[in-house]
Amino acid sequence: MPELPEVETIKEDLRELVVGALVTEVEVLDPALVEQPSPEEFVRLLEGLSITGAWRRAKHLVVGLDSGDSLVFQLKIGGQLLLVPPVEEPRTALMLVLHLDGERRLFLRDSTGFSRTRLLSEKELEERLSSLGPEPLEDGFDAQYLRQKLGSRRAQIKSLLLDQKMMAGIGNIYVDEILYGARIHPRRKADTLSADEWEALYAAIRANLSAGVEHRGTTVRLYRDVLGRPGEHQNYLRVFEKHGKPCPGCGSAVVREKVAGRPTHYCPVCQRMTREENVEGE
Ligand SMILES: [Zn+2]
Repeated sequence: MPELPEVETIKEDLRELVVGALVTEVEVLDPALVEQPSPEEFVRLLEGLSITGAWRRAKHLVVGLDSGDSLVFQLKIGGQLLLVPPVEEPRTALMLVLHLDGERRLFLRDSTGFSRTRLLSEKELEERLSSLGPEPLEDGFDAQYLRQKLGSRRAQIKSLLLDQKMMAGIGNIYVDEILYGARIHPRRKADTLSADEWEALYAAIRANLSAGVEHRGTTVRLYRDVLGRPGEHQNYLRVFEKHGKPCPGCGSAVVREKVAGRPTHYCPVCQRMTREENVEGE
C-alpha cells in the first residue's frame, strides 16, 4: 500500500537510478495497466523517449519524458517498480517492462493487479492532479489549514484524513498511526476536536510522514523500493496491525475495528471518545 513516504522513496530512487535513461522497448504484459491512451498507442509513444525527471504528487508517481509528456503511475495496493529482475513468480505478476539503454530493465510488478498508468500531456497531467489537496509535508500546510478545512465537518476524522481532496498522500497505515500519535479516536466527528487536538493532529501528521520518509517507507507486506529492498518504518509502528498487543503508551490491548470502511487500529484508552463525540449510527 504505497502511501506518501513509500512513493517519495521510489521517486528518490528513480531520480538517482533512471533519470537520463533512454526507453528502448516497452512491453505491456497486462493491458489493464494502461488507462490512457490505448496500450498500443502507449507503447508507440513511449519507445525512444528519454526519462528526464521523477516527481511525486500525493500517491502518484510522475515520470517526466523528453517529449514533454509524463508517465503517471498509481501503485495502489501492491505495485512495485523494480530495477532488479523479479526472481520469484516470473512474469506472472508482471504488468510492464521498460527496457532501458545499458541493458537495464524497469519492471512494474503487482501481485494484486490494481496498479494503473497513464501517459499524459502537460495539460492532461495538470487536470488529473488538480483536485488533490495540499501536500502535508510542504510549507503552507499547517494546523490552521486543517482546522479551517475540516473543523466544521461532521464526518469521522479518519475518513476525512484519507480524503485525497482534503490533503494528499495519507493511506490506511499512516492514518492509524497519526490518530494514535494525536490521541484521537478514529470515529471522532471532526467538529468535536478542540484547538489543542487540531495542533496535536497536525504535529502527528508531520511527525509520522517525515519518519516514514526517513525510514524509506513501511513494508507490511508488498512494498519494496526500486532495488527490491523493504522499508524500515514497520519497525516503528505502534498500533497498525498490533491488535491484541499492548499499547506502547498505556499497556491496554490495541483493538481492530472497521472505521470508514477500513480495518482500523487504535488504543481504546489513549484514544478515548465520549458519546457526544461519536457519529450516530456507526
Ligand atoms: Zn494506550
